Formats: sequence, structure tokens, C-alpha cells
Amino acid sequence: MSLVLSVCGGRPISQVSFRVGGPVRSTMQDAGLQIRGLLEHGSRVFATSTIVTATAEGHSTATFAKAGRNAARLAHALRALGVAEGDRVATFMWNNQQHVEAYFAVPAMGAVIHPLNIRLFPQQVVHIANHAEDQVVIVDDSLLPAFLPMLSGLSSVRCVIVNGSADLSAVRAQGVEAYSYDMLLRGQPDSYPWPDVDERSAAAMCYTSGTTGDPKGVVYSHRSIYLHSIAATLPDAIALSRRDLALAVVPQFHVLAWSLPYAAFLTGASLAMPDRFLAPEPLAAFIAAVRPTKGLGVPTVWGNLLRFVEAHPEIDISSMKEIGSGGAATPESMTRAYAERHGITLMQGWGMTETSPLGTFARPLAGAGAEGASAHRAGQGRFCAGVEARLIDPHDEVLPWDDISVGELQVRGPWVTGSYYGEDAGTQADRFSDGWLRTGDVGRISPDGWLTLTDRMKDVIKSGGEWISSVELENHLAGHPAVVEACVIGVPDDRWGERPLACVVLAGDPVDASELKGFLGDRIARWQLPERWVFLPAIAMTTTGKYDKRALREQYAQEALKVVMA
Ligand code: ADP
Repeated sequence: MSLVLSVCGGRPISQVSFRVGGPVRSTMQDAGLQIRGLLEHGSRVFATSTIVTATAEGHSTATFAKAGRNAARLAHALRALGVAEGDRVATFMWNNQQHVEAYFAVPAMGAVIHPLNIRLFPQQVVHIANHAEDQVVIVDDSLLPAFLPMLSGLSSVRCVIVNGSADLSAVRAQGVEAYSYDMLLRGQPDSYPWPDVDERSAAAMCYTSGTTGDPKGVVYSHRSIYLHSIAATLPDAIALSRRDLALAVVPQFHVLAWSLPYAAFLTGASLAMPDRFLAPEPLAAFIAAVRPTKGLGVPTVWGNLLRFVEAHPEIDISSMKEIGSGGAATPESMTRAYAERHGITLMQGWGMTETSPLGTFARPLAGAGAEGASAHRAGQGRFCAGVEARLIDPHDEVLPWDDISVGELQVRGPWVTGSYYGEDAGTQADRFSDGWLRTGDVGRISPDGWLTLTDRMKDVIKSGGEWISSVELENHLAGHPAVVEACVIGVPDDRWGERPLACVVLAGDPVDASELKGFLGDRIARWQLPERWVFLPAIAMTTTGKYDKRALREQYAQEALKVVMA
């Protein structure tokens, strides 16, 4: 042993000279991770993969090769319109083929794609588009009536491109150039000399939906989108491949549809785009007709779909094998219903606009068995490589990953934002801590990296110095057979500071508050049980399909809710 240690290459160690210090440069080529690369790869290698878009008549289909040619045509047209490197090209569109073409053309030519949230209030859209200094907007014809009233407020927009057959004169009447998407692309070359852009430069931007404050802009780089797309497609995440047809219910304006279009061109998975046909009935019909294998969307969409297909058993959604559900906590009862009654594995993921969004994904471990799988699915999932996480307590101490200690989740990584667009350091200081993003989410992490969120900082109910998890109460309530939806908020209480108020939508069967409280009492500590109950016909949603807790709190403060005590 000692001989081996003291001899190097046949010479005694003392005679060997080592260079000390300084990194060794790799011999690898410095090729950038660019959207151009994804576009060229997808449209060539997976030329026959398809984008299927729902239409009023049924659906239309385009191959990746065709979408790639259209992306080149769009880039030529945009350049002819004066769009230069770094310019913002916005979209006001549903999920469809042309929106995917814009997703590739705009960043690949060096400009920045900015999907606008079509469900925001007009003033918010105007504020966001002006803040981003959007110059061109591509609008679906079906959304033109909603878009036109905002146009006069859009200070930087000089050109509108309409996808579909709409009368352009209303746009021109406001002194803004207007073109039809099809006409603009017609006659343009079907290849483009894509520039070699810096992988760290801006490729796309999205604004948070403002659930907990004013919308804030996040700018994604070519590199962050590329890396995120790889992470999202890994086998223990969404697991996308050429064999899949992936249904993107998550809107393209919401965190780039969780990067699904880019991940599709990376892997060859075909895309099913529902356009404006998102209500349960047309969505179920679209699934039955085009037979996607996977779907991505927020839990409310999957809850509505589940109720619809159970009321219409003749509709065949059996092609769907897996659903990725994120953006809000997914009730375990829904996961179980999909698994037991439809053979569909519903897995939740956690993320934010700020995290591109994928932070965690809850694919059950192989061999976990039914109980183990269900326990894992109840949480938000396991952190992806690339997303570093820590939990911080109110005294700024780092907490252990013991699945017990609860604190604020902070993350950092190559697809996590380090700042907000156009905000000075002072205004965003409270959102970052030593380079970590403060997510505003509260939870615990197991020793092997499974995240269980218990709340958002703003939603957690602080009762007599203890925290009550609104998510946990909602999750259990949703498991009651008579409950369609449940949303719990904290309301002021003289004795305890705050107490939970449970807002419930019933399926139709009459149950009263004391029965629901009894149901919860079998599952949750007594001191956490709500005494205040509200029965509603529906619960207001935010523009990205989450319960609008801010609106409920305001209604409660204005005494606009009929509260029952139990
Ligand atoms: P906004 O912050 O405006 O709501 P985002 O879509 O970025 O817009 O929302 C991110 C937030 O959504 C997260 O911080 C978290 O609170 C919530 N969220 C996302 N996924 C989940 C999940 N699987 N379970 C619980 N909450 C989630």
C-alpha cells in the first residue's frame, strides 16, 4: 500500500511536479443553449410530429416541419416590420399552432416573446404591455373584440397581427398598422438565417398573475428555457417522448405553458392544443377525438373534467395515462378518483412564474405500493436537480429536511429568477435573500427531498400563535363526497387573532356545517377545525385558475358572505 502511495508513474512522488491552483479549461465546445437549437432539432428530426389544434369544426393538424417553416416565415415578416434584437413581441392568444410558431420564431430571431394573460382585467393588460414595452402584438381573431378596447392604451404597440379571419379596419382606425397572420407569412422564405444569440439573453417574458400583489415581470433566457425543458421531460418528471401526444391545458400565457411547446420540440412529443375550447364538454370531446396520452393543467380544470366525464360515461378519455397538475394544491381525493376509476396517474408539481415553473414533481417511487404512492402524491413532489431548496424559519435560521420542520421555502437555480423586470433593487429586496428566491410558500421537506406545502405565507391562518394550514383543511374537505370545491381563508378573530373560514361548494346533496366539521374532526386536530362556514354556488377563481382568496377576504370584510357557525 505504501509503495503505491509514494510512487507516481514509476517515479517517487517527491520527484513529480504538480501545477497548483487555477481551474483546468475543458476541451468542450462552447455551444450556446438556444431556442433556435430546439426549433431546428424539432422541425427536422421530429418533422412528422404534430400540433393538433381544436377548432369549431373539430381540429386541424400541422407537422413540426410545417410549424418550423412557418416560424421562419414569421421571423422574415417580423424583420420586415422592423422587429430587431431584444424587441418585445407580445401575443394575446389561446393555445394553438400559430402561438407555438410565435414561441419559436420570436426568440430564435433574437427578439423576446411576451405572452399576455388574456384573462386579466383590461387595465392590468395595458399596464403589463406598457411596462414590457411591447411593440408588436399577435392576436387571435376570437380575442380581437376583447383586445380592441385596450389598444388605445398600449403606448409602445405600433403593429397588430391578427391570427384568423378578422376585419383589420378597426385596428387601423386607431392609427396602428394591422396585418393578417396568413397574409403576412404568404410568400416569405421558409428558412431563416437564425442568429447565434447569447444563451443568457432574453428569450421570453411572463408576468406573475398577481394573486398576492401586483403582477411582476420575469424574463427567461434561452439557456434557462432549454435547461428547464430538459428537466421537465426527464423520466421522473413529466417523462415526455416521441410516443406522447401532450395536451396543453395550461395556457401559453401562464409560465410559457410550463415550457411544454419547447419540451415537445426537444423530445418529439406531439402537442394537443385546445384553443378556446376549454370548458369540460368540448375539452372532453377533444380528448376523445385526438387521444392525448398526457395532459398538463391546473387542478380546477382536472376537477371539472372529472365531474363531466363521470356524468357522461360514454365519453372515452382512456387514452390519457398521466396528468401533471400544478399551480395550486391538488386534492388527494381527485388523484385517487382518477387512479381508481379511470386508470390515470395524476401527479402534482410545484412551481411559480419565477421558477419557469418546475421546482418539484410528484412521480411515485417505483415499488412504493399503493399506500406509498398515495402518500407521495399528496405532497408537491421531489425537487428537480438544478433547483436548490432551503426552509427558513421566522428568525432567518435554516431548518432541517426532516419532514417535520415547517418554514418558508426558498429556492435558487439556473431557471429561477434572480430579479424582477424593470424593478429597482429596493422594491424587490424583500423577495430575495442572499441570492435565494423567497417563494412565499410555507412547507416541509423530507430527508430525501419531497416537498409538502402547507400554505402560502399570506394564506396561512395564524390562530393563537399556532399556524393552521388552509391547504390541509381544503384537501380534507374536498374528500367529502358531497363537496365539489372547498377554499379556506383566515378571518380576524378577537380571541385567537385569526380563525379559519371554510367556503364550500356542494354537489347538490344537502349536508350542513356540523356534518362537515365532524368529517374534518376525524382527520384534523380539534383546535384547527373551522367554526365559520359559508356555502356558495361557486368560488371565484383568479385568471390562472386558483381560488381567489383575496376576493373572499374582501367579501368577508364587507359582510357580503352568509356565515353559518358550527
Ligand atoms: P401567482 O403567484 O400570481 O399565483 P404563479 O402561477 O406563479 O402565479 O403561482 C405560483 C404559486 O402557486 C406558488 O408560489 C404556490 O403558492 C402555488 N402553487 C403552485 N403549484 C402548487 C402546488 N402543486 N401545490 C400548492 N401550491 C402550488
